[in-house]
Amino acid sequence: MSIVVDNIGELVTNNPADGDGLLGLRHDAALVIEDGRVAWIGPSAGAPAADQRIDASGSAVLPGFVDSHAHLMFAGDRAAEFGARMAGEPYTGGGIRTTVAATRAASDDELRANAKRLVDEALRQGTTTIEIKSGYGLNVDDEARSLRLARELTTETTFLGAHVVPAGSDPDAYVKLVCTEMLEACSPYAKWIDVFCDRGAFDGDQTRAILEAGARTGLLTRVHANQLVAGPGVQLAVELDAASADHCTHLSDADITALSGSNTVATLLPGAEFSTRSPYPDARRLIDSGVTVALATDCNPGSSYTSSMPFCIALAVRDMRMTPAEAVHAATAGSARALRRDDIGRLTVGARADLIVLDAPSHLHLAYRPGVPLISTVVHNGAPQ
Ligand SMILES: [Zn+2]
Repeated sequence: MSIVVDNIGELVTNNPADGDGLLGLRHDAALVIEDGRVAWIGPSAGAPAADQRIDASGSAVLPGFVDSHAHLMFAGDRAAEFGARMAGEPYTGGGIRTTVAATRAASDDELRANAKRLVDEALRQGTTTIEIKSGYGLNVDDEARSLRLARELTTETTFLGAHVVPAGSDPDAYVKLVCTEMLEACSPYAKWIDVFCDRGAFDGDQTRAILEAGARTGLLTRVHANQLVAGPGVQLAVELDAASADHCTHLSDADITALSGSNTVATLLPGAEFSTRSPYPDARRLIDSGVTVALATDCNPGSSYTSSMPFCIALAVRDMRMTPAEAVHAATAGSARALRRDDIGRLTVGARADLIVLDAPSHLHLAYRPGVPLISTVVHNGAPQ
């Protein structure tokens, strides 16, 4: 089964060798999909025939968004906490424990249905790859259950037993549990290990111990770093060759230097700053220092309850001074790199056929027309949705 997408007004390839600028833009283009992969790219006038045709009618076609940071295994919501915060109360991260109680009390079917609802919601908004973390179980059984259910929805699963220390637990005893019995139960369902290294969560020594234990079982590393205060998270992420340091809101000069000379992506999560009314990370400084930047939603019921990558792109452009091209690149190629994937986040021959057709002539419209549902067609794994 082959599909030709033709009459593409603007094709974002993310391959500067194949088109103009950072996004590798091609105009009046077409592409052919075979067996779930991009098999051909060229001028629309020269497009070969295929079993099925999608007429883009002059619209823009982009790689599907890659949401490399999402917390979807939970129950309940925290709308009341959001309301209180917007009325002036500070965000401390303490509300995570509210979601832990709801998650533990939920059935498998309830957790599965809630996560599936969010994955579908994200897909409709153009997200074709999504990472899902545990972290609202915080005991051996509920963390393993969260990852087992997440695995039904994505291959990008992350063990975040070290989200916070659960109420009533001794921190040192909890770190030991995470590194031993919990890790053993969770690692079969996880690709990644992550730690919330921040004030009120885990310190540098605890973070290192957990990440090193995860690496010994074959898990790859990513870190929640420097969201609430400047701390050791970013430097640790670079030292341990983490794929990504996520948040990066409070960075020292040394943090930026470390990131710029590394393979660690800085994943920015502007939905969190929006939803906690906090200062945004300095994306310009990171980009101008040569750091690879990713954008993701941080979708979670406490500090960023959005599944919308277009919303995050709009925030990045308006409030973090990223150019529209930089923001689109960060939400596709950048976030693919944050998952150490080279088969997604780009539209080049051989790449996975994950793409979106906009109801607009260029990628600029994603930030120019915020809040408008501009995704007219999503193709996932070569299949129109
Ligand atoms: Zn997060």
